[in-house]
Amino acid sequence: MNKTYRRSRQRERILEVLQGTGTHPTASWVYDRLKSEFPDLSLGTVYRNLNILVEQGLIRKIDFGSTFDRYDANISQHYHFICERCGAITDLEFPIDDELNRKVEQAVGITPNRHRIEFYGICKQCRKNAHM
Ligand SMILES: [Zn+2]
Ligand SMILES: [Zn+2]
Repeated sequence: MNKTYRRSRQRERILEVLQGTGTHPTASWVYDRLKSEFPDLSLGTVYRNLNILVEQGLIRKIDFGSTFDRYDANISQHYHFICERCGAITDLEFPIDDELNRKVEQAVGITPNRHRIEFYGICKQCRKNAHM
């Protein structure tokens, strides 16, 4: 059952901030962006609102095995690239490989609905910096 939540100006702004970045930020990054706008905002409130947005299907929480959860306003299925040097997480402009689900089905006999892939390497910015 979907709970209904009272509209909240803070939550709307949290969503806008997330939609305005492709960096897959942490809750504390979002908090830093909004604390001057809402002086009574707390990190706990940010977490609570992020969880509500996840529940509402408006954003995704992504666990990369790092210490902090990261949040993504891009809710379509997509692959990520993670820089092993600076830790940046970016969306990959690369089509989802539906064939992969069929390959798994043929090989293992289970039917995946979707899959998630993270590619690791050195991002363009770090590669550029290394050549300077
Ligand atoms: Zn990098
Ligand atoms: Zn993403």
